[in-house]
Amino acid sequence: MRIPAYVATSATGPLVPGTIERREIGPKDVLIDIAWAGVCHSDIHTVHGDWGPVPYPLTVGHEIAGTVARTGAEVTRFHAGERVGVGTMVDSCRTCANCRDGLEQYCLNGNTQTYASVDRDGTITQGGYSTRIVVDEDFVLHLPEQIPFEKAAPLLCAGITTYSPLRHWGAGPGKRVAIVGLGGLGHMGVQLAHAMGAEVTVLSRTLAKRDDGLRLGADHYCATSDPATFNELAGSLDLIVNTVSAPLDVDAYLSLLSRDGSLVNVGAPSQPMGLHVQSLLGARRSYAGSATGSIAETQEMLDFCAEHGVAPEVEIIPIEQVNEAWRRVLASDVRFRFVIDMSTLSR
Ligand code: NAP
Ligand code: ZN
Ligand code: ZN
Repeated sequence: MRIPAYVATSATGPLVPGTIERREIGPKDVLIDIAWAGVCHSDIHTVHGDWGPVPYPLTVGHEIAGTVARTGAEVTRFHAGERVGVGTMVDSCRTCANCRDGLEQYCLNGNTQTYASVDRDGTITQGGYSTRIVVDEDFVLHLPEQIPFEKAAPLLCAGITTYSPLRHWGAGPGKRVAIVGLGGLGHMGVQLAHAMGAEVTVLSRTLAKRDDGLRLGADHYCATSDPATFNELAGSLDLIVNTVSAPLDVDAYLSLLSRDGSLVNVGAPSQPMGLHVQSLLGARRSYAGSATGSIAETQEMLDFCAEHGVAPEVEIIPIEQVNEAWRRVLASDVRFRFVIDMSTLSR
């Protein structure tokens, strides 16, 4: 079926209105009318070719909230009219060790990403800047009623990508956690770490967003452009989650960790980020990375957000403003996530 969408045709051109092809709904598929689509920095990295060759024409978007329009004959977990979400993955092999462990984001055969992946039928997957999507029910999330519909969308990537490392590295009472970069991911990380009971520090380039950071639940807010920050915080943190989309001085951030502390990168710049091993071995520190979260953990995160009243702060835009929104994301001029009202794309 042909579906209206906004499409990238090159690394440099604007996204333009067009159409994409979706497969017909299979027995285990859910057809979703997309209501809201979050704008993730990964959408921009992908289209700009930061991470490698791009299969243009491509429609991106992996923070999707919508309503079930129709279900395949064997679908048991969803019904028409239900509010649902789709994040960064739409399939995986389901048989490898990581899939069997319920960690399909680390599928050893490569999970099928929501966009720019080769789908099971050989076509290229197309993302959420469109009006409808067809997804296997195993990769569809239930959206709790307490979460406003448009605010659910960014949870499907920004939410789970910060929730997963915070859980894995034990953010909670008595833990000193820092979030680097107060953007889409960062502002979720601050709220989630605070809701988990950790003592939270924001490390932003300047103090411009200090009031926002404290309102979101941070206990401390420091400017990384001020060298004094690195002296004051030296050796004081248990966990740092770096959400920055550009390379950083890894050694400088490692120096802020206490013994056995971890610096976890979720930000995904295209350039390599080096470090001196001395920054690790003097205090048994770790440097790690983390990619989104599993489907089960994404559902857990959604339920956690509903229970704790955690939600993103969003700026709603019509689809015609998406190119301007991308420019503003690149300029870090967003508080804190753009969400596209997909009803503004004619169906
Ligand atoms: P975003 O909204 O643009 O936020 C990034 C933040 O990084 C900015 O708000 C800014 O914070 C800081 N920053 C930007 N440029 C910087 C620079 N040159 N030097 C230092 N700090 C800079 O982006 P996002 O959507 O949160 O995504 C952040 C990164 O995570 C992207 O690389 C994205 O691809 C990646 N990502 C990874 C995963 C995963 O699975 N691991 C999932 C989603 C996204 P301040 O203004 O506060 O300094
Ligand atoms: Zn994303
Ligand atoms: Zn697998």
